Amino acid sequence: MGRMLNALSSRALELGPARSAETTGHFRSATDDNNVAWLILDRQDKSVNTVDRSVLEELASHIERLEREKPAAIVIRSGKKAGFAAGADINQFVGASKEEIRSSLKDAHQVLDRLAALKTRTVAVIHGHCLGAGLELALACDRRIAVSDATLGFPEVMLGLHPGLGGTFRAPAVADPIEAMTMMLTGRSMPAKRAKSIGLVDAVVEERHVASAVEAAFYGDIRPKSHSMAGKAMGFKPARQVAARTMRKKTAEKAAPENYPAPYKLIDLWEAHGGDEKAMQAAEIDSFAELIETPTSKNLVRVFFLREKMKGLKDGSSGVKHLHVVGAGAMGGEIAAWAAGQGFRVTLGDIQLAPIGKAIASASKMLERALKDPLKVRDALDRLIPDPDGNGIAHADLVIEAAPEKIDLKHKIYADIEPKLKEGALLATNTSALPLADLASGLKDPSRFVGLHFFNPVSRMQLVEIVRHDRISSETERRATAFAAEISRLPAPLNSAPGFLVNRALTPYMAEALKLVDEGIPKERIDKRAEDFGMPMGPIELSDQVGLDIALDVATSLRERLGTDTLPEAPAWLTRMVEEKRLGRKTGAGLYDYDDDGKPKKRDVKALPDDSKDDPDLLDRLILPMLNAVVACLAEGVIEDQEVTDGAMIFGTGFAPFRGGPVHYARERGVDGIVARMNELAKKHGPRFRPHEGWSRLKG
Ligand code: NAD
Repeated sequence: MGRMLNALSSRALELGPARSAETTGHFRSATDDNNVAWLILDRQDKSVNTVDRSVLEELASHIERLEREKPAAIVIRSGKKAGFAAGADINQFVGASKEEIRSSLKDAHQVLDRLAALKTRTVAVIHGHCLGAGLELALACDRRIAVSDATLGFPEVMLGLHPGLGGTFRAPAVADPIEAMTMMLTGRSMPAKRAKSIGLVDAVVEERHVASAVEAAFYGDIRPKSHSMAGKAMGFKPARQVAARTMRKKTAEKAAPENYPAPYKLIDLWEAHGGDEKAMQAAEIDSFAELIETPTSKNLVRVFFLREKMKGLKDGSSGVKHLHVVGAGAMGGEIAAWAAGQGFRVTLGDIQLAPIGKAIASASKMLERALKDPLKVRDALDRLIPDPDGNGIAHADLVIEAAPEKIDLKHKIYADIEPKLKEGALLATNTSALPLADLASGLKDPSRFVGLHFFNPVSRMQLVEIVRHDRISSETERRATAFAAEISRLPAPLNSAPGFLVNRALTPYMAEALKLVDEGIPKERIDKRAEDFGMPMGPIELSDQVGLDIALDVATSLRERLGTDTLPEAPAWLTRMVEEKRLGRKTGAGLYDYDDDGKPKKRDVKALPDDSKDDPDLLDRLILPMLNAVVACLAEGVIEDQEVTDGAMIFGTGFAPFRGGPVHYARERGVDGIVARMNELAKKHGPRFRPHEGWSRLKG
C-alpha cells in the first residue's frame, strides 16, 4: 500500500504512480499496485469543489466501474487546497420547480445509496471545508478521516432549506442524533476535533499522518463511535417527541416558523421518521422540494448571490500590507483588531494611552470569538501594534481615521498626517455623517482620500460603505473596495450624501419608533412588531444600542440637511434624557434599563395592556419610511445598483434577509400599493410619509 499512501499524504494534489490513471471531468482516479482505488474530486471548472448533477453522474460511472473491478478499498478525497467540498452548487436551485428538484434529488440519492452499499470499504479523507452536499458525500462512505484543519457543517438553513442529499438521516445515524440535529438546525459548522467528539468523523489526524490513518481504516483499526444510551433512545418516537419539543422551543427563540419554515420541517421529519432511514429519506426529498419553492428560500438564495456580487466588486488587490488606525475608540479599536485578525499588520494610535490599552484588551476577546484558534489569535495580536506616537503613519499603505465626529478635529488630524504619508498610501475616514468633500477640503491630494464607513460591531456587521466624493481617483475607490473585501467585509460603493445609505434609511425607522413611544405605545410592543417583521432588533433597543446622544445627533443633522418634513421632530423627553446622560446601553440605562450583562430589561409583551388602542398603522409607519429613504438614495444617485443596495441593507442593518432586501420586498409587495399607503399615511400623520418621486422609477 506504500506508494498509494505516499501519494495520498502529498494531499492528493497530484496523482502518484498507478496501475491505471484516468482523468475524467471532475474526478481523477487511480488504482494502485495494492488494488486500492482512489477518487480525487477536483472540479475542472471551479477553484472550489461543489456538488451538482454532473459531479454525481460522474461519480456514478466510477462506482459502476468499481463494482466491476472490486478493488480492495476505495479512498475519496479532494484535490483542491481549500477543502473537501463547499456544498451543493447553489445555481441549481435558482428557478427550479419542486418537481424538478424532487426528480434530480431522487437521482442523486440513488448515486449516494449505491456508494453506501458498496461491498468494498470506502474512506473519505476530509481537509478544509466540508459542507452541505460535500459532507453528505462523505457520510455515504464507511469511514471519515478528518485532517486537523477540517471544518464540517450543514449550512442549508441559511438558504431556507435543510440537508437534501441524505444528511438528515445519515448524520444522526453516525453522530450523536441531538448534536447532528443541532448542527443542521443552526447551520453552524464545527472544527474536526468537535466533529470527532460527536461521532461525525472517526479520526482526526495531522496531514502527515493521513496515510497511516487510511491504512488503519482499511484494517478495521478505526471504528465508528457507538451511540450513547441517550443517542440510542432517539431511535424511539416518544424520546424524539420530547427532544423535538425542546428543539422547537430553542428554534423559536431565533426564528419564527412563518418566516423560517426549514428548521421546523426538519424537526417534524426527524420526529416522525427518525428511527427509519428509508422513510426519512423519502420525507427528506419531499420536504426539501417543498422548501425550495418557499419565498423564504428563494429570497435567502437571492441573499447568497447578493453577497457573492458584493464580494465580486473587488477588482485586483488593494496593495495594502500595513494599516494604521488613528483613534483607538469604539470603532478604531475594532477596525484595527479585525484587520489584524485578517492577516494585516496594524499600528493603532490615539491621542491618549488608555483607549489603546482598552482596545488591545477587547481585541483579544473579539479575536477569540472570531478566530476560535488560540494560535491564530496569538498571531493576530502579534500583528496589532500599539503606536501612541503614530510612527506607523509613515510606513502604512492605508491610514484610517476613526477620531471623534468633529470636522475641525478631523481637519487638524489630516493636516498632521498628510505630509507623513508615503507615496501611494490611501487616507480614509470612518465618518458616519460628515460630507466627504468638506473633510477633503484642506487636503493637498484629495484623490487618495476615501470614506470607509464601518458598522458597529465590526466583527458582526459585514458591510463597509465605500464613500466617494468629487475629487477621489478611481484607483483610490478601487483599492478601498478591494481592501474591504480583503478583510472579509462586503463593500458597497456610494456617493457622499447625508447619512450615506444605511444611516439615512435607519434614522426614519428609529425616529418614528420614538414618536410612537411619545404617542403612548409600549416600547416592547414596538420592538416586537419590528422583530416579527424580521428586523434583528427592534428600533427602540437599537436606539439604546447606538446611544441616544448619537441617535439624536444623527436625526437632528439629517433633518437639517434633508428638510424638516422628512423626519419627525425628536420628543422633548429624548433631549432631556441625553442631557441627563441616560444614553442607552453604554450608560446602563436609556429607553430600557440594562442588566449587568448589558441585556435590556423588557416587560413580557403578553403581560402588556391589550393592543386595541395601538395605532393600526404601526408597522407600516416603521418600515415604509425606511423603504422611502432607500428609494430616495437610488433616485438621487447616492447608490446606483439596486442589488448592492439590498445587500447593503441586509449586511449593514440586518434588514429581514428572508425578505430579500428592501427593494426586493417593495417590488414583491407592490410599488403602487406602497405609494398609495404612503399617501394615506401622509394624510393621517404628516408629510414625512410622502412617497419619494423615485418610486415611479422602481416600477419597471
Ligand atoms: P470614540 O469617541 O469611541 O473614539 C474616538 C477616539 O479618538 C478616542 O479614543 C479619542 O481619544 C481619539 N482621539 C481624539 N482626538 C484624537 C487625535 N487628535 N488623534 C488621535 N486620536 C484621537 O468614537 P467612535 O465611536 O469610535 O467614532 C469614531 C468615528 O467613527 C466617528 O467619526 C464616528 O462618527 C464614526 N462611527 C462611529 C460608529 C459607532 O457606532 N460608534 C459607527 C460608525 C462610524
